[in-house]
Amino acid sequence: MLLFGGTMKKTLRFWILTLITFTMIAILSSSLFSSYIVTKKSLIENSLEQNEVYSLKLAQMSEEVFEGMKANLEARKLDVIANMNDPAQLTKILDQLLVSSKNFNSLSVIGSDGVAIATSPNIGIAGNKIESPGVLEAISKKESIISSPYTAVTGRFLILVSTPLSSSTNEYLGMLNGTIYLQEDNFIQNILAEHFSGDGSYVYVVDKNGTLIYHPDIKRIGESVKENKVVQNIIKQKSGSQEVMNSKGEHFLSGFTFIPASEWGVVSQTPYKSSLYPLDGIMLKMFIYSLPFLLIFFLLALLLSEKLASPLKKLALFTMNLPKESTTIETIGISTWYFEAKQLTETIENYRKTQEETVADFKHQSLTDPLTGIRNRRYSEFLFSDLLEHQTLFSMIMIDIDHFKKVNDEFGHNAGDEVLKFLAHKMLFISRETDVCIRLGGEEFIIVLPHCSIQDAYNLAEKLRNEIEMSIPPTNKKITISSGVGEYKSNNENVSDFMHRVDDALYKAKSEGRNKTVISN
Ligand code: GH3
Ligand code: MG
Ligand code: MG
Repeated sequence: MLLFGGTMKKTLRFWILTLITFTMIAILSSSLFSSYIVTKKSLIENSLEQNEVYSLKLAQMSEEVFEGMKANLEARKLDVIANMNDPAQLTKILDQLLVSSKNFNSLSVIGSDGVAIATSPNIGIAGNKIESPGVLEAISKKESIISSPYTAVTGRFLILVSTPLSSSTNEYLGMLNGTIYLQEDNFIQNILAEHFSGDGSYVYVVDKNGTLIYHPDIKRIGESVKENKVVQNIIKQKSGSQEVMNSKGEHFLSGFTFIPASEWGVVSQTPYKSSLYPLDGIMLKMFIYSLPFLLIFFLLALLLSEKLASPLKKLALFTMNLPKESTTIETIGISTWYFEAKQLTETIENYRKTQEETVADFKHQSLTDPLTGIRNRRYSEFLFSDLLEHQTLFSMIMIDIDHFKKVNDEFGHNAGDEVLKFLAHKMLFISRETDVCIRLGGEEFIIVLPHCSIQDAYNLAEKLRNEIEMSIPPTNKKITISSGVGEYKSNNENVSDFMHRVDDALYKAKSEGRNKTVISN
């Protein structure tokens, strides 16, 4: 972070990085969010499909078992018909059938009058007239049926699978029945109980009226669940899958298959939460997998931001550290590779050059006499302190025009000015390069001569006096000058004392008749 004017300001690079970071977070979260939605949807679809496929498989298995059970009954029909009048023999046949078919809980032969002739196992109803819903339905229809579940005289909740018995002359003799005890160990449980898995998934079976024929919670068997949306579809003889709230308000993903043979429906369902269980892990993995890319991207961003910000940073540092007073014009020397930085650098460079030139110009003006163009009194102050500082020995000529008032009076002030310029010009002309010609003010001039002996200074003053005397000034009327000459010998002498001393010599030259050079002792 740079310090600008004492307050902490964030750098351009900081803001570029902040922008990139925010962009990265935004992209990451939006991509994670969309992945979340897509993954969630596919998990749900997956679960629905799995349950549908599973319910179909179970339905097919049940149907096969039913066919097998029916076939078992059909296979022993003739034997049964032949022994209708021999209950003992019938019982034997039923005992054999019960063992071989495995899938029935009990078997019975019932006459056309509804009286039980034989049963296996012996459940104590032989000789009784049976008026259970299943038997009544079978007698009235005189055809193969799979009954709705009902509670039999024995108190058992069961389903009846029945096939009619007829004589060779097609006389109805009664029926051969097998039962399935729904709340006990039975084939449906054998098929379905396996599906009762740890994630809360389970299978249940309903009949065409929406009554539970199988449920892992045995106590619920016999309960009507026709309010359930899935069960309503089964009642409409449909198969498929859907999200559903069960009677307890739990959210499930259900697949269901209607079995035409029994008009039952098999429902396989997984709790919504279990189906989405992998989601968190998948999202975490996606996040972790994206980390290396984020890191690489961030490093690139670091480099890029440095490259972007560096020209402007250098520019800022450059302008911050600009010396208050400087006459040296230097280029900034910043390599810029994009338009804005290049323009800024060039503009600052140009501005700075112009400014430095302006400052130099002002400085020059402030140390120059506007009329004559030679140095002024202000300059003399710098010059003396510089000479004293470096202990340079120097001499000085102090010059004054003789009777200058008269020039002004005779030719006017402007002409007088021209004469002053004429004198300045002559001073520059006769002096050495190292000498400094100064107009202190009015018609008072000095020439400062570093490393110059008093004699040489005197000679120069005389040369100037002669030159002026011989030359024609702009007024066309000759003038003369008087000079005082002095040598600054020791550093102990005060500059103003020295000036007075030379001024005294000048005064002496005046009083001795003018057009004269006098050396100060
Ligand atoms: P002296 O021989 O004693 O020096 O006589 P002088 O007339 O030159 O007297 P003095 O040096 O005292 O007079 C200075 C005169 O110079 C007064 C003023 O009119 C004139 N003067 C001063 N500054 C300027 C100027 O900038 N331009 C013009 N034209 N005249 C100036
Ligand atoms: Mg004067
Ligand atoms: Mg004068």
